[in-house]
Amino acid sequence: NIAYVSGEFIELDDAKVSIQDRGFQFGDSIYEVIKLYDGKLFKADEHFSRLLNSAEMIRLNLEYNLEDLKKIALEVVDKNTDNQSGSLYIQVTRGIAPRNHSFDFDLKSTVIMYLLPAQPFPSELWESGVNAVTLPDTRWSYCNIKTTNLLPNILANQAAKEEGAFEGVFISDDNIVIEGTSSNIFIVKDGRVITHPINKKLLSGITREIVLELAEENFDVEEKIFTLEELYNADEVFITSTTKEVLAVVEIDDKVINQAKVGKITKELHNLYREYKQDLNNF
Ligand code: PMP
Repeated sequence: NIAYVSGEFIELDDAKVSIQDRGFQFGDSIYEVIKLYDGKLFKADEHFSRLLNSAEMIRLNLEYNLEDLKKIALEVVDKNTDNQSGSLYIQVTRGIAPRNHSFDFDLKSTVIMYLLPAQPFPSELWESGVNAVTLPDTRWSYCNIKTTNLLPNILANQAAKEEGAFEGVFISDDNIVIEGTSSNIFIVKDGRVITHPINKKLLSGITREIVLELAEENFDVEEKIFTLEELYNADEVFITSTTKEVLAVVEIDDKVINQAKVGKITKELHNLYREYKQDLNNF
């Protein structure tokens, strides 16, 4: 497994970053995960644009533009011909410096890319749907930034797992359904597909965007906030992410959704998503 580390291609086991790296010490760092389908990076431009946006929002001067990043990504894929259906992990940190909260703008950022092995999503879950639990959203005010500061997400995800749930769903103090610990969430009510609008409270998921586009061609769609009660009373609920695609949620907390069956619109949106990613024009 050949990884890229700040200008060098190196065997993953030998790839190292400094203990003085700000990504390590402060979580001063951003990331992306891009799915590989048959050696092709799905939505690379969108992921790298989001990475560049995250960089700008944390005031990190990245000396790579979108084309530079894509070129490195393709080289990593080319050097690992034994892994053509995993994911590309990309992380950018502000770089290495003596420990100090404030930073210099001229630091050389650490840029790493390497392939994660294919972890085929258990496809029976797309047939059965999954359960989820809700949790208070304990995160900060800039959840639109894809930072590696994931402590609230990993603790919430762990708590969900320990309760026997597949995903944890963040609920704000004022009872609004925000997003999953690593997914966006949608409800369907009276034929209408509804999801939280994009703002600083959540990540603008690439899958969310695609699903919204597909939904708009076929259903009524509304990007608007909805409450925990509306979640419990939804006709259908589903979550979206790069790896989960469109995944039905059939139980939330102790409430059963759609008689514990994958809903019709959820199923259709997943089929449309599947077709969409079969088409190389959409890469
Ligand atoms: N929200 C959060 C907090 C996430 O970590 C993810 C997964 N990256 C998503 C939403 C879904 O994003 P995407 O569709 O781009 O994978």
